[in-house]
Amino acid sequence: MNIKKFDSRFEILSIAKIVQENEMTKTFVFESSIGGKPGQFLMMWIPGFDEKPMSIAFDDGKELWVTICAVGPFSQKMHELKVGDKVGVRGPLGTHYKFKAGEHLALVAGGYGAAPMYFVAHEAVKAKCKVEFLIGARNKDLLLYGQKILGLGVDLHISTDDGSAGFKGYITQVLDKVMDEKKINQVFTCGPEVMMKVVGQVAEKHGVEAYMSMEKYMKCGIGVCGQCAIDDKGDLCCKKGPVMKWSYLKKLPEMGQYHRDAQGRKHYFFKPLAK
Ligand SMILES: Cc1cc2nc3c(=O)[nH]c(=O)nc-3n(C[C@H](O)[C@H](O)[C@H](O)COP(=O)(O)OP(=O)(O)OC[C@H]3O[C@@H](n4cnc5c(N)ncnc54)[C@H](O)[C@@H]3O)c2cc1C
Repeated sequence: MNIKKFDSRFEILSIAKIVQENEMTKTFVFESSIGGKPGQFLMMWIPGFDEKPMSIAFDDGKELWVTICAVGPFSQKMHELKVGDKVGVRGPLGTHYKFKAGEHLALVAGGYGAAPMYFVAHEAVKAKCKVEFLIGARNKDLLLYGQKILGLGVDLHISTDDGSAGFKGYITQVLDKVMDEKKINQVFTCGPEVMMKVVGQVAEKHGVEAYMSMEKYMKCGIGVCGQCAIDDKGDLCCKKGPVMKWSYLKKLPEMGQYHRDAQGRKHYFFKPLAK
């Protein structure tokens, strides 16, 4: 019988440190490793409560970080946990960002997407890549990981919607300008789907492939339950993704349009136009 080795693990880990990144966001640090690569995710379990997918914000073989924005029941429960509390961690799961040594990469982050993008940048710098790190937020207080990113020695580009830091406007406008001026080999992005869609369009305009981390409602994370099936292909986001390429994603009817909740109901990012 051909049984494929299952290479993710499950561990109960104690929270070693909690960093308050901004009003809504905390990073949970564990003195452990699950061998995660940039872009992969893990299933975070609060015993007796729920289990949810979270991006691996960092994993260097010694420390594992997960950065969580408090938006609903699970993420708020995570924010109530203290140093020493235990959670279950299952992973690493899914696909990751891939690059070759010496490439020139543009990494575009929005919201807590800055965390996995920081992990990509950290690994890319080690591989002697040149990195343009573009990070956008509504205002300067919501910018994440700024000091950590500067510590990597990458070219940092910031935008805010209100102009309180960096360029006033969208980070995708900054990306367009960077790609006008520099020869970029690949574009990687993580953030709100609507932003990533524009990142894909800008990269395509410059003839460059973009890879993006998609968030679909996931339950098992290992391709069993079918919850994260992608319209209208039926591919499972937890197996084919979360990191997928724009040339595939741009053909999907749901890309940048809607996401589905736990019951599979559609929620449009914008109100659909009346027919
Ligand atoms: C691969 C993957 C990686 C993720 N990484 C992270 C991470 O690093 N940090 C983090 O904070 N969260 C991450 N998430 C989201 C996380 O799994 C939970 O969905 C989130 O914490 C909200 O759960 P909740 O129970 O707190 O709130 P919920 O009640 O589930 O959601 C609260 C609000 O957010 C909206 N919402 C939830 N999911 C989505 C979505 N996919 N798209 C648009 N709106 C949505 C809901 O509609 C609701 O309005 C990731 C999800 C996936 C699939």
